[in-house]
Amino acid sequence: MMRRLAAGNWKMNGTAESLGEAQALASDFPSPDCEILICPPATLLSRMAGTAAGTAIAVGGQDCHVNPSGAHTGDISAKMIADAGGTYVIVGHSERRSDHGESNAEIRAKAMATWSAGLAAIVCVGETQQEREDGRTIEVVRGQLEESVPDGATRQSTVVAYEPVWAIGTGKVPTLAEIAEVHADIRKELTARFGAEAQEFRLLYGGSVKPSNAQEIFGVPNVDGALVGGASLKADDFGMIVAELERA
Ligand code: PEP
Repeated sequence: MMRRLAAGNWKMNGTAESLGEAQALASDFPSPDCEILICPPATLLSRMAGTAAGTAIAVGGQDCHVNPSGAHTGDISAKMIADAGGTYVIVGHSERRSDHGESNAEIRAKAMATWSAGLAAIVCVGETQQEREDGRTIEVVRGQLEESVPDGATRQSTVVAYEPVWAIGTGKVPTLAEIAEVHADIRKELTARFGAEAQEFRLLYGGSVKPSNAQEIFGVPNVDGALVGGASLKADDFGMIVAELERA
């Protein structure tokens, strides 16, 4: 059985003093029953990896370039993330899709670049508010899965995060039945493509997860953890979410 995963996405937040949050989390969870991951901004990756060394906290990148090196000003590669001590890369976050116009094909290439560097990819999918209102959630998520998750994905190399765009950073959360419906469909689609092993792919829910709603979300079938933005910045809040995941 794969261990459930609590992943924190710090986005464009955090400076050296924020490393204390990772330190606090590590001392609160010396041997957790789930995996704990923090994806800090690139500027903190290496220092965060140093802080997390020898603890139960894993460190990851928030994005990577499709190439391992080259003339791409401002970008970083999966190889560099690995070199800095990262073990995961988030690819296809909705903020990358909207702010940088990333396509499913590009996200697929980024997932493959992540694997090539020996890291695991967290592939994000999720519908917009309009797509949900139009009754297209399942169709949209299936399309993103099909086109962004590369062939050859395994339970070790790939995590899928369902993040409704309208729930990210808004305080709005789908109903538990809505989360259950999408997660069951993701599991079904992955099973059709990857066979029985897909039962062990970790499927994360992301979008305004906080200490007060984590318990009920982790009780939803096929939710194997969370991708957490705002509430991952403080060790106290993220720790409460991790504790709920341990109990689930
Ligand atoms: C995210 O950034 O992936 C996210 C889910 O953010 P938040 O938890 O703040 O909604």
